[in-house]
Amino acid sequence: MQILDGQFVSQFIKDELKLETAQLVVEGKKVPHLAAVLVGNNGASETYVGAKVKTCTEIGFKSTLIRLEESISEYKLLTIIEQLNNDADVDGILVQLPLPKHISDEKVINAIHPSKDVDGFHPENTGRLVQGLPAFVPATPHGIMLLLEHYKIDTKGMHAVVVGRSNIVGRPMSILLSSNTNPGNCTVTICHSQTKNLNDFCRQGDIIVAALGKPEFVTGDMVKDGAIIIDVGITRVADASRKSGFALKGDVHFAEVAPKSSYITPVPKGVGPMTIAALMKNTFKACLDRNSNS
Ligand code: NDP
Repeated sequence: MQILDGQFVSQFIKDELKLETAQLVVEGKKVPHLAAVLVGNNGASETYVGAKVKTCTEIGFKSTLIRLEESISEYKLLTIIEQLNNDADVDGILVQLPLPKHISDEKVINAIHPSKDVDGFHPENTGRLVQGLPAFVPATPHGIMLLLEHYKIDTKGMHAVVVGRSNIVGRPMSILLSSNTNPGNCTVTICHSQTKNLNDFCRQGDIIVAALGKPEFVTGDMVKDGAIIIDVGITRVADASRKSGFALKGDVHFAEVAPKSSYITPVPKGVGPMTIAALMKNTFKACLDRNSNS
């Protein structure tokens, strides 16, 4: 069993981006600028946005954090996004989800200009991804592909079972793994809450991507020997022994599954850091595209 070390690989990618960003400065070119919008005071969202902004600073990107009251109107938020769309200095825009219930995720995502949609959630980018055209790929599935690529895992012909069909993780993951690419070229089964005999599907998986948000859902008996296990889940579970008051749990029962697997991502330090690295790669690409178009 080998750990797929997202912390290590993400650092490798960030170091590369740092060098490339320094080179932009040497050439007198614009450095990438990410604008992150955070609505309300959700603790987990604060942590995720904080980590993204900190990473920008580490690698030499410019970042702007726009904090907005929970009570902000949808109209006002859409106006702010329009301003960011029109700001020539901003390369990438991310709006941290979830948004308060009175604001439509869909309207907000659709308002971000596709060329600045570094989260890859806009329907134009989704459509391009489905058609195999250059696109901003959602950061979590993109990060998982970068991880598989780093470890030179040849997935051709494998049966991948993706548990979860959200637009930000499960569905794009299934598209990437089934693409005629490397990694990719898998036969993909996508499972969800209505899947019958889910355990049977999982047991057939050469690769299992668990992205459902149910702590330790995938147990040892659901996994075949030698499977590659990608654990996307991050759930905060109360833990009085920790200063924070919670522990992070993945969707995979690590102690049971790891001994049976060939490769496995831990939680934390697996998919999470890769998500941030992929977001940074997307932002760098957005900046290069803008530099070359200006
Ligand atoms: P969503 O809640 O949007 O989607 C969950 C998916 O899992 C749905 O498709 C749902 O099915 C399916 N599901 C729920 N319960 C079951 C079940 N019992 N059996 C089979 N399928 C089930 O979650 P996300 O995709 O946004 O996130 C999934 C997890 O990944 C969460 O823990 C989240 O925190 C984490 N995450 C981690 C990231 C990282 O960087 N590591 C980034 C993004 C997310 P249905 O469609 O039928 O409802």
